[in-house]
Amino acid sequence: MIISSKTIDGRPHRCHLCKSDVSVLHLQADGDTPCPNCGEVQAFGEDMITTVREIDSDGIESLLKIEDAEFPRKLLLDFSRVNTINSGTISNLVKLQKAQDARTGKVVFCKVEPIVCEVFQLMHLDTVFKICGDEAEGMSLLV
Ligand SMILES: [Zn+2]
Repeated sequence: MIISSKTIDGRPHRCHLCKSDVSVLHLQADGDTPCPNCGEVQAFGEDMITTVREIDSDGIESLLKIEDAEFPRKLLLDFSRVNTINSGTISNLVKLQKAQDARTGKVVFCKVEPIVCEVFQLMHLDTVFKICGDEAEGMSLLV
């Protein structure tokens, strides 16, 4: 799974301590995302959109471990590489959605393959998840 953060106007996320660019955040097992330069744990501001690519069940599981205060409020999940989806992943996605709702965050799914979309529809999850077309549309829904 690949996680990256940038501001809404496209600038990369900068560490608030050393000001170095942190375009790819290294999510650790404990849920912290330290700056690769100075090690300062990063907080995600309201103006930040975090994109998650190459989604897998373990990746979603590690996202769920991030503490509320640290959690990116605007989350874009890119499903372009996801061709099958199992119940474990679906259950983690529902947990993620509920957690985002509880902390008044947003999560948008983009580039969902038709076969995966069909699964969401069959489970009536298309009304729970916000599913859109491409990344640009997803970004616009998160602004
Ligand atoms: Zn730093």
